[in-house]
Formats: sequence, C-alpha cells, structure tokens
Amino acid sequence: MSAPLPDRLPPSDWRERAGLDTLCATLGASLGEARFVGGAVRDGLLGLPVKDVDIATVHLPEEVVRRIKSVGFKAVPTGLAHGTITAVLDHWPVEITTLRRDVSTDGRRATVAFGTDWREDAARRDFTMNALYADPGDGALHDYFGGQEDLAARRVRFIGDPHARIAEDHLRILRYFRFTARFGALDRSAADYAACVTHASSLMALSRERIADELLRLLALTDPADVIAAMIEDGVLRPVLPDVTSADALRALIATERQAGIPADPLRRLAALLPADGALADQIGARLRFSNKARQRLQKALTPIDASSPEALAYRLGTESAVDQMLLGLAFTPDVAARMADWTAPKLPLSGGDLIAMGLTAGPQVAKTLQLLEREWIAAGFPPTDETRAMAAQMIVAELRSIQ
Ligand code: ATP
Ligand code: MG
Repeated sequence: MSAPLPDRLPPSDWRERAGLDTLCATLGASLGEARFVGGAVRDGLLGLPVKDVDIATVHLPEEVVRRIKSVGFKAVPTGLAHGTITAVLDHWPVEITTLRRDVSTDGRRATVAFGTDWREDAARRDFTMNALYADPGDGALHDYFGGQEDLAARRVRFIGDPHARIAEDHLRILRYFRFTARFGALDRSAADYAACVTHASSLMALSRERIADELLRLLALTDPADVIAAMIEDGVLRPVLPDVTSADALRALIATERQAGIPADPLRRLAALLPADGALADQIGARLRFSNKARQRLQKALTPIDASSPEALAYRLGTESAVDQMLLGLAFTPDVAARMADWTAPKLPLSGGDLIAMGLTAGPQVAKTLQLLEREWIAAGFPPTDETRAMAAQMIVAELRSIQ
C-alpha cells in the first residue's frame, strides 16, 4: 500500500513566505546549522498544507535570539527552558528550537540538555515520521530512523522501544492514535499499537488538560471513527472516559456532517460518544477541565428538551446547541440542522414596559405575563409586532378579568 513519496521536500507556498529565506540564512541553514523538522517536513512530503513551521538548529537559544534580531525580526522566548524561540515574520510565527537530548524523563515532563547532534535530537522525538529533517535550501532530507519508509506506508512507528518511549511520556499513547487516525493505516497487530494498549492506564498520570487537548485534536480529524472504535474495544479510552462504550453514534454523526456539509466539531463529536444525559456530560466536562463555555455546550447538546419546532428548540437552547442535538439525532432530523445552522433567533418584540403601557399594573404579573407571552409567541412561530401585541392584549384582558 506504499505510495512513493518525493525524495526531498517539494517546493510549496509555505516555503515561499516572506522572510523565511532570510531567517534560514541567518540561522546558517546553508552551513547545515538549521533544518526544517517535524510536521512541516512530514506534511510537506505528503503534499498536505503546512501551517506551523518548526526549525531545529545547533545554535543556543541566546544566539538564536541574537541572529533573529540581527535581521530585524521579533524574537519571542516562547519556551526558553526547552530552547524554543519564536521568530515572528510578518505576523507569521516560526518556532526555532535548539537541538536537544533528554537527560531525564518521568512520564510527564522531560529535563533536556542542549546538544549539537542531529541524530540525538531525532532520537528524542516520538515517531519516525515526525523526526524527518529537511535542508531549507534544496529540501534534502535527513532521516535517521527510517521515517521516509514509514511515512510512505502511513505507518506510525515509535523511535526505539515503544514501551520505553511511552514510559518517558505517556501522552505519546494518545499522539499515536491521533497520528494513526490522521495518516490512516490502523494496524491492531502492530507492536506499537499493542504497547499503547498495554500502557493505557498510565494515561491517568497525565494532567486532565493535556488529555482533553489531545482527545479533542483526535476528534477534530476528518474521520477518527475507526481508530476510536479500536481504542474503545481495546480499553484505551477506559481510564480517561469510562462512560464511552461505542463509536457507532460518532460514525453516524460523521456521515451526517458530511451530507449536511457542516464542518467537524470536536466537542459535538465528543458528545456523540456519550449517552444523552446532561448531568453526566457536565461531570465529564468538569473532569476534563473544560472551560465553562465548552462544558455548557456539551451539557446542552446532551439534554433533550420538548420543543414544538426546530426554531423553538433553537430559541431556547441557542442555535449551536439545537444544531448539535439535531446532528446527534436527539431532536428533529439531521437534515434540518443544515437549514438551521445560520438561523438567528428573533427577539420578542414587546417588553415589560409595553405591557404596562397597554394597561397591566407594574408588579410581579408583568414578568409572569411576559413569560407566558414569550411561550405563546414561540409556539405561534415568532409572529411580528402587531400580532404579538394582539396576543398580549388578550392576555392582559384575561389577567385583569381574573383580578376583578
Ligand atoms: P501537528 O500537525 O499535529 O502540529 P506536529 O508533528 O507538528 O504535528 P507537534 O505536536 O506540533 O506535532 O510537535 C512538533 C514535533 O515535536 C513533532 O513532530 C515531534 O517531532 C516532536 N514532539 C512533539 N510532541 C512530542 C512528544 N510528546 N514526544 C516526543 N516528541 C514530540
Ligand atoms: Mg505542529
């Protein structure tokens, strides 16, 4: 199933971006002192769009800063302890990291030392396809661990012994599944896969934020359903999301999104893995340390309510959550979701002040009548001001009569 890949980094628009040549020149790329690395090389070889560009260099961080400034770019010390400086070229950030080797690791963080050895720098990276370097000038590749071959076969393979590499950093388990879902050759008989399954419970030692971030990145991919189904079956998700037992609804959601032309949304996809239980969803959102906004979204997506029409549902939940419920098959039908995606809720055309001007006495019954009016107005399909006024008038008359 191998498709041949170019034997050097092909030209593409990101390599033409203003300032990149100057940056590479000042870092000594022509002398072999700076190379592109990681996702940019991997995705560039596959002909995929490249967003983030990482450069590895033999120069120490202070020297990197000096060189970046000497050609007039801004240098931001984004990860100085790890040797990462961000050069900002015309609003476009490029990360430059000094070559490193691991001194010690504890499964969650690594202590690193700077070095000048490319192979050592490659050896501390996670997968062979992520440890490819390319000379900025002619795109020549430097491949120390068979990354080109693995990439051609779409094979995600740890550099070195997978058990040891997972023990160094447990997050690599989730990264393994994410890259597998992204590049497509799920092989449940691979030794690397088995190692991830074996060590799944070590995920519990990671911070919830890191787990959540990786999971959402996995869910945001074009079609992660097969990989997630395998993770569920083989118990990889259990330590992190014990309530997830099937990927069927996720699979259905992905098909529906495609049909409706609605872009993938990782939170909605997470909702598809969970039962329709708002309280549980809220607990899971809290457990994963989601923002209040994300937590509420998950909870609303999984709390079915009675509504007379898709518009009524959208009015009460907000359009986004109503669309979530429709795409998840919890309300109306998924095809309505596409129509509703751009719907903006109208505003009740009357206020409490209007009701008082129409004869209602100021006091608690204003809020009560307003609520009743809103409910009828929604049920009537959001009629315009005149009709709403007539509805209100009837209510006020009834109210006054009941007082007499
Ligand atoms: P993406 O397109 O998802 O950003 P990427 O390959 O650029 O893919 P990053 O997470 O941005 O991934 O990391 C950049 C590079 O740093 C990786 O290609 C890899 O070489 C290395 N790396 C990142 N995380 C780890 C890790 N946990 N363990 C080892 N190496 C890592
Ligand atoms: Mg990246």
